Amino acid sequence: MQEAALRAVGLDDWRYLRLPLPPELFAETVRALPAAGFRGVNVTIPHKEAALALADEATAAATEIGAANTLTFEGGRILADNTDAPGLIAALPPGFDVAGRDALVLGAGGSARAVVWALRRAGAADVAIWNRTPERARALAAELGGRAVEAAEVPGRPEILVNCTSVGLRAEDAPFKALPLDADSLGAGSLVVDLVYRARGTQLLEAARTRGASVVGGLEILVAQGAASFERWTGRTAPGEAMREAVEHIA
Ligand code: NAP
Repeated sequence: MQEAALRAVGLDDWRYLRLPLPPELFAETVRALPAAGFRGVNVTIPHKEAALALADEATAAATEIGAANTLTFEGGRILADNTDAPGLIAALPPGFDVAGRDALVLGAGGSARAVVWALRRAGAADVAIWNRTPERARALAAELGGRAVEAAEVPGRPEILVNCTSVGLRAEDAPFKALPLDADSLGAGSLVVDLVYRARGTQLLEAARTRGASVVGGLEILVAQGAASFERWTGRTAPGEAMREAVEHIA
């Protein structure tokens, strides 16, 4: 996706490389990258907290979420950002305003942290958080705001529903069994976002779409967070269409 973006804007001598690293080599390797000509890095599991810790400066998003997915090397300094949060907001339908709406977030892992932060920052009226392991939902709410709910308290018709669990990743996953959701509660007037990405969509999104809900798939969010990183590094407007086309094959 990033390679396609670089080619699309004519940065033909830039490369986006995969750099697998064990945690014990993370900090020293990243600190050596600017001298090797790198402009920045995307960081994924399990390095997102370490990335924030080694940065000289961090955005409010990275600091408050407690994790960075993007590092930018600038003037001898390492700047940390978290583009998962703005990526979620950027991927929402044009003109959709989170402010004043009630949201339900399913999950309390790394992506749920970014989503809860983004929804609260965008002015959601209520952010209910359910997680299979309830203590994690309570801890997340205590730290970032929102309120933890048990299955019996899950709001029946959320205006915004975001699935931040890994349920749906496998074809055999049954979202309406694993998650405290009734498919028929997802109709017109709801926006359903599934972070899980599959090229042909997920059962959750399919059920929501057929009942008239607006839907946003995980691929849109993947592209949006990547586009935000691309813009930080290159100073160019990200070519969204080229990036979207490049990720189409992900199953
Ligand atoms: P994570 O930190 O490992 O968290 C996983 C979450 O899923 C936890 O809340 C966990 O609950 C829950 N879970 C796992 N299996 C479950 C089950 N059978 N039933 C109910 N809940 C279950 O993972 P993450 O980084 O937040 O990512 C979550 C998903 O979002 C992944 O599928 C990932 O690929 C996707 N994602 C997409 C994007 C994007 O750009 N589209 C970005 C980030 C993540 P417990 O706490 O009870 O274990």
